Amino acid sequence: MSLRNAISVDVEGFAESNEESFRIPGHLLDPGCRDREVARNTRAVLDLFASTRTRATMFFLGRIARDDPALVRAVADAGHEIGCHGEEHRRVFNLSPAAFGEAVRAARLRLEDAAGCPVTGFRAPDFSITAASAWAFDVLLEAGFRYDSSVYPTSLHDVYGIAGAPRDIHRLPNGLVEFPMSTVEVLGRRVPFGGGGYFRLYPVAVTRWLILRENAAGRPCMIYIHPYELGPEVPDVPGLSPLRRFRHYHGIADGASRMRRLLDGLRVGTAAQVLAERGPHA
Ligand SMILES: [Zn+2]
Repeated sequence: MSLRNAISVDVEGFAESNEESFRIPGHLLDPGCRDREVARNTRAVLDLFASTRTRATMFFLGRIARDDPALVRAVADAGHEIGCHGEEHRRVFNLSPAAFGEAVRAARLRLEDAAGCPVTGFRAPDFSITAASAWAFDVLLEAGFRYDSSVYPTSLHDVYGIAGAPRDIHRLPNGLVEFPMSTVEVLGRRVPFGGGGYFRLYPVAVTRWLILRENAAGRPCMIYIHPYELGPEVPDVPGLSPLRRFRHYHGIADGASRMRRLLDGLRVGTAAQVLAERGPHA
């Protein structure tokens, strides 16, 4: 049987997702407007997954469990794994270990209360566990997490990445399991693929070919996406440079149909399922 790949969704609003990347007009940060967008897009993602018989890991911001607990429960009731994406959307390397610890402990409890099931996986906003914030692994273990999926083992991005980190699922020295983002080696460089802007930029056939190539080498892939990349509602932020606009909006309009094409015939599931199939040593 072919390898199973993980599919994950970082559940957050478009504006809060990009608050640390560019200036967001105040009206887009209005809580009511933000929460309507998250709920509408996330329910569209649930419909897409139901119609493709897909189970995924949904990494929620803890604040969504506070503001819309019914949404978290609906996702859990639909059979998806609930993971944690931090309390608010803040890059880990900008936080102190104490502040990060307080936030993730609160978020995990809130999410477990809303979902009615254990939360053991973590994904950092903007993959912001880097060499400068590697202390976060110990904080996550102490906060009760069993695995992390925050490391992008690449040097090609301006915000995130740990250049020399392993590309395979592995156990860290402290016992936490790391499920890294997917990369492919091209001319000695590790090129990211399989999620977010890369999923929108590369033709579906290329993403699929790269996934199957990694699977043939014995490596499950980590696919990741956001509700606003699949759902109907994408807030328009005025005044962005052409490069910014391309990075954040290119390929978003047909995201759902592209995802359907990627999922067709591909063996996928939750991160927890993939890790269970790898055995206790990951
Ligand atoms: Zn995020």
